[in-house]
Order: sequence, then C-alpha cells, then structure tokens
Amino acid sequence: MALQPRQPSAKGPAEWFTGDVWLDSIARAEPPSHVRVSAVHFTPSARTAWHSHALGQTLYVTEGRGLVQSRGGEVTEIRSGDIIWTPADEWHWHGAAPGDFMTHLSITEADPGNERPETDWGAHVTDEEYAGH
Ligand code: MN
Repeated sequence: MALQPRQPSAKGPAEWFTGDVWLDSIARAEPPSHVRVSAVHFTPSARTAWHSHALGQTLYVTEGRGLVQSRGGEVTEIRSGDIIWTPADEWHWHGAAPGDFMTHLSITEADPGNERPETDWGAHVTDEEYAGH
C-alpha cells in the first residue's frame, strides 16, 4: 500500500458548473479497473450543468443539503448519508441547496474501450430549472 500524495483541490470549470465548486480526486484506478472517485464540494446554490454518464454514477452525500433532478423528473432534496444512483445515459444535474453547502462523493467508471467520454456535458441549469419551475 501507499499513502497517496496530496493534490491541491481543483476549481470546477465554468463550462461544467454554475457557482463555486471544488473537486478532489480520490481514486483514478489503473486498468483493468476503471473506477473513478471524487469528492465534490458545492457552495450554496452551486450545481453541475445538465449531463449524463456513459456507465452511470453513484453519489454519496457526505455533508450538507443538496438537490438532484433527472430530465423530466422532480427536483429532489438530498442530505448527508443519502446514496443516489443514476443509470447510464440518464440526463441529470446535482448541486447544493440554496443556503447550504453540500459535499458528495462521485463514483463513476471510465469506458474501458475509451470510445465514449465518462461524462457527456450539456447546457447549464437555469435559475428557473434550479427553482423547480
Ligand atoms: Mn452526475
């Protein structure tokens, strides 16, 4: 085993996120494993853009209160301890609730053949969508 060197937190790119989001890479496995784990820290009202994952995604909320929505579904509150599974190719977003920070672990798999990106990014979540309208 090896204690991994600490890496600086990375700012979430503005093309993928609204508001201030910081990412810590926890695991980026070597083949034949393809698992990727990150801690994602959202400031109040910050959220991802609409996106989907080639092989799905598990979220585990470690801190705070947030919101998630699948395309065509309701905006749903999530809290520390919640586990959210999003199937492959389901468009969705996730982020912090208004007035609350939220941190979740993101667990995804890279496409073994590297034929598709792990995440397919779309439009930003508008304030109206975020508010559930
Ligand atoms: Mn996602």
